[in-house]
Amino acid sequence: MIKLNLCVDIDGTVTTPYYWLKDANNYFNTNLRPEDVMEYDIHNVLNVEREEYMKFYDIYGEELHAKAKLRNRARRILCKLAEYHDIHYVTAREKRMTKVTYWWLEKKKLPIKGVHILGSHHKVNKANELNCDIFIEDRYENALELSRAGFKVFLIDCNYNRMPLPEEIIRVKDWNEIYDKINQYVNSKLKLDVA
Ligand SMILES: [Mg+2]
Repeated sequence: MIKLNLCVDIDGTVTTPYYWLKDANNYFNTNLRPEDVMEYDIHNVLNVEREEYMKFYDIYGEELHAKAKLRNRARRILCKLAEYHDIHYVTAREKRMTKVTYWWLEKKKLPIKGVHILGSHHKVNKANELNCDIFIEDRYENALELSRAGFKVFLIDCNYNRMPLPEEIIRVKDWNEIYDKINQYVNSKLKLDVA
């Protein structure tokens, strides 16, 4: 069996993508639905200044991350994958979210090889350091940046990432498909090794 280093983003990838929406609607007195979230920058979706959104995030960010929900089958698939592969979480969350991030991953009983809280959307250096085989992401720009640096990327489908993709990036609709695609990748590698 081949052991892969799987780099996994957290927000929108392991969590459901719109878990912040209800609280943001309450705070900003808006009534947005998931289908309105057509871009990643939340302040644009809410039609407020970035600073205003950051004020909300400063107050409620930790609480939001603590109550984030898992995407369907994320735990089951990650646990199955962890039987053979290493799962490294690589998130752009700020360092101050370290405690809640570990707390949440443990509470959700997710398999953990490592957790990397970058405070930045630029993930290429970390992917290099971790010898990443496959990166699983929801942010379009991250996917492009990682793919351009030569990494294999699975982009998990969300309303805000449906822009055209280069053929190297694989769009996946859910964790079941991620599982299938990883197994296909492993099998293709094994065939190459035998040949
Ligand atoms: Mg994300």
